[in-house]
Amino acid sequence: MNPSIHASTFLCAMLAIVGGARAETPYTAADFAHVKKFDSHTHVNTADGEFLRIASKDGFEILSINVDYPDFPPLARQAEIAHKLLREDPAHFHFATTFSMKGFGGKDWTADTIRHIDAEVQRGALAVKVWKNIGMVEKNAQGHYIMLDDPGFDGVMKHLEERGIPLIAHQAEPKNCWLPLDAMTTENDRSYFRDHPEYYMYLHPEMPSYETLMAARDRFVARHPKLNFVGAHLASLEWSVDRIAKFLDAYPNATVDLAARMTQVQYQSKSDYAKVRRFFIKYQERILYGTDLTEDPPSADERAQNPPTNMAQFSKDADGFWRSDWIYLATADRQHIDAIKADVEGLALPRSVIDKIYYSNARRVFGLSQGAAGLRR
Ligand SMILES: [Zn+2]
Repeated sequence: MNPSIHASTFLCAMLAIVGGARAETPYTAADFAHVKKFDSHTHVNTADGEFLRIASKDGFEILSINVDYPDFPPLARQAEIAHKLLREDPAHFHFATTFSMKGFGGKDWTADTIRHIDAEVQRGALAVKVWKNIGMVEKNAQGHYIMLDDPGFDGVMKHLEERGIPLIAHQAEPKNCWLPLDAMTTENDRSYFRDHPEYYMYLHPEMPSYETLMAARDRFVARHPKLNFVGAHLASLEWSVDRIAKFLDAYPNATVDLAARMTQVQYQSKSDYAKVRRFFIKYQERILYGTDLTEDPPSADERAQNPPTNMAQFSKDADGFWRSDWIYLATADRQHIDAIKADVEGLALPRSVIDKIYYSNARRVFGLSQGAAGLRR
């Protein structure tokens, strides 16, 4: 017998013992399109249906998040697109609504905002999004930045808690945002903050610090223990799986999404593969797969955070992005990751863990019926 075959047979037998009754063979790259998946963080800003076409082809349901981002279409237009796509493809399309900060602190803001949220939920919205403008842009009458734990939000947040409506919260930025360009860990952060000096906090020492923003967010989550809280972008703690673990331990009502932060995780798995893999396994119920893939109307001054940027490229880029993440999380394959200029080995997470992170956690958190995860028929 060929000794290498003999050795691998022996290894398989050992893994079967270590893994318990049945060793879980990880998924392969070829399984990608056949496994049910859910991208919990996308922005579909055109109604052309292109995003949904590639999502269905690749086995994804998507949650499109409306957000009060000046580079996106106006909120009313984002809502209109979401309503139309939900009508056309309710099996693959879901959306989250948001609210405007105009009039915050005024006597009608809470009631108006609740009315708006309820109307959108009535039309199918599964969650509400709050963006980093809270903490980093909006100021109160005294000229102070409005933080997420401002009592002015209490009425709205109490309403979400009572109705069981999830809140997707993007506060602060990756920690790289507070570092000089040459100290940043990933190329995607470096190019984003180079192109968005207004959001690049290293240039704005007068603005709230990273830890100030994290502390305000944590006080908020602590104050609303029944709120279904989703920390977008790994709750802005992407630089340390230990720190994310501490956050998840402290707040049992919280989950996190992976959107636009995979390269930060890959950066850590390069130096401590076992720790990162343990993190995903330990918190397998609390992590939602998401990308931040954004389909925007073509425009010369397009500045959305992530690729893709032009319509012809969209499907190709989305498919490539999704497949690369799949190879990293689901398989043991190595691939080159440009953003960290390194070859990265896949985590080969057990199938049952992949099925949760990629599908059932999102269905549970966003209140959708729990169908069987795993391979599509
Ligand atoms: Zn986003």
